[in-house]
Amino acid sequence: MPATRSKRRAKRAAAAPPRKTPAQRKRAMQILAALEARYPDAHCELDYADPLQLLIATILSAQATDAGVNKATPALFARFRTAADFAASSPKEIEPYIASIGLFRNKAKAIHAACATIVERFGGEVPRTMEDLLTLRGVARKTANVVLGNAFHINEGVVVDTHVSRVAHRLGLTKHTDPGKIERDLMALFPREKWCLLAHLLIFHGRRVCKARQALCADDAICRKFCANANAPAPRRRRPRG
Ligand code: SF4
Repeated sequence: MPATRSKRRAKRAAAAPPRKTPAQRKRAMQILAALEARYPDAHCELDYADPLQLLIATILSAQATDAGVNKATPALFARFRTAADFAASSPKEIEPYIASIGLFRNKAKAIHAACATIVERFGGEVPRTMEDLLTLRGVARKTANVVLGNAFHINEGVVVDTHVSRVAHRLGLTKHTDPGKIERDLMALFPREKWCLLAHLLIFHGRRVCKARQALCADDAICRKFCANANAPAPRRRRPRG
């Protein structure tokens, strides 16, 4: 994503949060409690051992599955152990390790450039602020939120990926389709300490029940309680979007 678009989104997300009513917040907390009870092991499904590996796995996961990324990264991380290792190589040397993943040439360039910046500007350590993370090539707000929330336990924002967008929309947590606006709605509805977990919960529900195609509407207790789709008469049931 071009840096200017990413910066605009970051600015929007940092702006004053939209107002939510007590009833909206109460409903959001009920949904959160139901999802926490359903998915007590919700977690980041990318494999990583340190912040750098998570950063790189997240860059690789754009328009790719976590499972596909997890297949490629063991060999990649065995060959390149530090940001300096990546920076001292070249995109061409990184490419063979990630060739099974879509857009691998661009991703190899992004990983190489991001690691060069980490070495030059941040002493070889992945930075711990949104502002600094957004200076790295291949890192937009979603990736930065993944790294901050999971590697550093810093709830700066909410990860909004395709699953979070779809499920938040269907559960009535947002009316927006723009990721920046969805993130601001979720930040306004849920307590900060839950932001990282919330994304995992919505992703787990999106992968297992509220799928993009053939969502399991009406077969699920959370859906029956919180989503109009589950309770719509079958012939007129709204087709889930996403
Ligand atoms: S009822 Fe269907 S659309 Fe609504 S949250 Fe459940 S699976 Fe998704």
